[in-house]
Amino acid sequence: MKPATAKISSVALKHNIQTIKQKAPNSKIIAVVKANAYGHGVVFVSSAVEDMVDCFGVARLEEALSLRSNGITKPILLLEGFFCDKDLPVIAINNIQTVVHNVEQLRALQAARVPTPIKVWLKIDTGMHRLGVDLDQVNDFYHTLKSSPNVDPDICFISHFSRADELDCDYTSMQLSRFLHCTKDKNGQRSIAASGGILFWSESHLDWIRPGIIMYGISPVNIPAQEYDLTPVMTLTSSLIAIKNHKEGEPVGYGGVWVSDKETKIGVVAIGYGDGYPRDVPTGAPVYLNGRRVPIVGKVSMDMLTVDLGQESQDSVGDEVILWGKELPIEEIAKISGVISYELITKLTPRVLTEYVD
Ligand SMILES: *Cc1c(COP(=O)(O)O)cnc(C)c1O
Repeated sequence: MKPATAKISSVALKHNIQTIKQKAPNSKIIAVVKANAYGHGVVFVSSAVEDMVDCFGVARLEEALSLRSNGITKPILLLEGFFCDKDLPVIAINNIQTVVHNVEQLRALQAARVPTPIKVWLKIDTGMHRLGVDLDQVNDFYHTLKSSPNVDPDICFISHFSRADELDCDYTSMQLSRFLHCTKDKNGQRSIAASGGILFWSESHLDWIRPGIIMYGISPVNIPAQEYDLTPVMTLTSSLIAIKNHKEGEPVGYGGVWVSDKETKIGVVAIGYGDGYPRDVPTGAPVYLNGRRVPIVGKVSMDMLTVDLGQESQDSVGDEVILWGKELPIEEIAKISGVISYELITKLTPRVLTEYVD
């Protein structure tokens, strides 16, 4: 019987990319595989989709180099740019593209000694107010980049939405019009849509889209992804390692916080917050077992959690338990735990085994 295991499906992954292509048929794809492909295994994911996408997006140079050393040859974009001047030759040699979002990066690029020009995406702050150059600086940055022999003359433009998951909010349209306006007299390719933009704002697709969470079959809002023809790539499973008869009026687990109001059977599942399962999940949150949902009761511990199987339970030690996946949407677990799905998948710990199922 298996302890906590993330089962990863390349069939689901490819299906999701097809769905994304249908939604944005005229855009090229930057597949975002930062943070170990959102906990799904960066080498497996990137190799599985390399033929279907045009570029990969990562947050750290180390992530990009790991892709290169594992045989990925498609372009890779550093979404936050480079952090050290001395990284620039490494970036050039490895055919890595970089965002430029501030004057320090601009100066470093100008001063660098690189073997070939580097492809640059100029990051524009259209309202997120996190990274990016201000609208009135775009011209200066653009012309300075254009005039540097270290920079590939085909400069691209990139920006990011802060509220694309809010379906009836004007802010996204405002950001898009700022982006279009400040790039309209320049001929570089443009990208602003991540998952929220791809699903909800088709006018934002432009030349390049940057799907992250939807590629993994998870919706960027707390609505199950099946609504958008996306299939969860990960099924998080573990096993029942004990079944105990439990008396009415007795508590379960640390703090004795849950007390049964009836005689029942308690199942112990080999997964806990030490695997990344959220400790804050409330009593009553579901797991999926033998074709039905059963509620978590008592506090989640480091290596285990407990579920109320009910008095009539026919379950056996060794049975597989699903924590999230097609049978039990992760969006539901996120909502009930007060977190976002992004956090659940990226917080899985190295102890969780990975199994590639197809
Ligand atoms: C993480 C990231 C994405 C992907 O976001 P999702 O919401 O997961 O689709 C896209 N662009 C940038 C700049 C990012 O940092």
